[in-house]
Amino acid sequence: MKIGILGGGQLARMIALAGYPLGLKFIILDPSESAGATCLGEHLRGQYDDPELLAELAEKADIVTYEFENVPASAADFLSSHTTIYPAANALAIAQDRLTEKNFFHQQNIPTAHFARIDSLEDLKKAMPEIGYPAILKSRRMGYDGKGQFRIKSPEDLSRAWVSMQNTPAIVESFVAFKREVSIIAVRRVNGDIAFYPLSENYHSGGILRVAQCCVNDVLQKTAEQYVTSLLESLDYIGIIALELFDIEGKLLANEFAPRVHNSGHWTIEGAETSQFENHLRAILDLPLGSTKARGHTGMVNFIGNVAPADQILSIPNCHLHLYEKSPRKGRKVAHATIRTDDEKLYSRSLEKLSALAETFDDS
Ligand code: AMP
Repeated sequence: MKIGILGGGQLARMIALAGYPLGLKFIILDPSESAGATCLGEHLRGQYDDPELLAELAEKADIVTYEFENVPASAADFLSSHTTIYPAANALAIAQDRLTEKNFFHQQNIPTAHFARIDSLEDLKKAMPEIGYPAILKSRRMGYDGKGQFRIKSPEDLSRAWVSMQNTPAIVESFVAFKREVSIIAVRRVNGDIAFYPLSENYHSGGILRVAQCCVNDVLQKTAEQYVTSLLESLDYIGIIALELFDIEGKLLANEFAPRVHNSGHWTIEGAETSQFENHLRAILDLPLGSTKARGHTGMVNFIGNVAPADQILSIPNCHLHLYEKSPRKGRKVAHATIRTDDEKLYSRSLEKLSALAETFDDS
C-alpha cells in the first residue's frame, strides 16, 4: 500500500516513520530539494498545484493525505476526483479561512472569542466598539505560528494594524485573557469509530508552540471531546484532527482546528499507547484504531531556530530526541524532545531541564 503525502516536512516525516512498521510505502510531493520526509519515500519535487505532478501522485498513491492545511483548493479538488484524499477537501476549505472557520464553530454551537469580518480600515473602526480592547487582527488566510497577526492595544494602533494586513481580508478578535491554552487531538476512522487523546496543555511564546504537556483526567476533557466530535461528525472527517481551545476559568473557547497531525500531539510518540501518526494512518486505511491512553507522565518541548547537542538532550532522564533534518533558521522548528516516565517528580525535573535547554538554544 502506498500513501501519498502533500508536504515533506517534519509532520510527513513522522507519519512515514509510523507507517514503516505497517509495511507502508510513501510518495511525497514537496517543492524543496530535500525536506525532512523526502528520504523516507519517493520524492516528487515541484509545486503543490503542478497538474503533472498531481496526476502522478494520484496514479501512484492508493490514498493521499497532507501535512499542512494550506494545500491549494485546486490541488485538493483534483486529487479528490482522481484518488482518495483524507481528510476530505471540505475540512481544508474551512480551516484555510479564519472567518469560515469561526462561523463553522458557531454553527456547531462551539463558543469562540467575539470576532468580526474586516475588509477595510473602516470595517475595523466600526467593529472595535463591539470587540473591545485589546484585540487581535488576523489575516483570514495563510496565517500560522502567529504570522499575519497584529495585536491592537488602543485606537491609535488601528491604522498600523490594517496596513500590516496589506489589504488582505482579515478578522478581528477580542483578546482572550485565558488561564491556559489546550488542544484536543482526536481521530475518526473510515468506518466512523472515534478516539480521543487526553487534553494537551500548550505554552506558546511569540505565537509559536514551545511546550505541550499531556493532562490526564482534565476537568475539561469531556467538553473538548463533545466539541471535537461535532466537528468530526458534521464534516464526515477521516484522520487525525486537532482542536485548539482557550480555557477561561473552566469555559472553553475554540481558537482554530487543524485538519492534520499536530505539534501539540508530538508527546504521543513515546507518551501514548499509539501515536497520533500511527492512528492517522490506521484511520485513513480503515484499520482498528489503537489505544490513545497516556503512558504515565508525558510532554514535549520544541527546539526553535537551533537544537542543543544530542548528548545534552539525551542526558536528561527519560528524554527522547526527534530531529527533523532541517537547517537552523530563526523561528524554525528544527526538533522536539519528549519525556515519558511513571514518576511524577522525575517528569517535572526533566521537563524543567529540557525547557531550559531549549530556551538557551532558542533563536526565534
Ligand atoms: P493562532 O495563529 O490563531 O493559533 O494564534 C497563535 C497564538 O496567538 C495562540 O496560540 C495564542 O497564544 C495567541 N492568540 C491567538 N488568538 C488569540 C486571542 N483571541 N486572544 C489571546 N491570544 C490569542
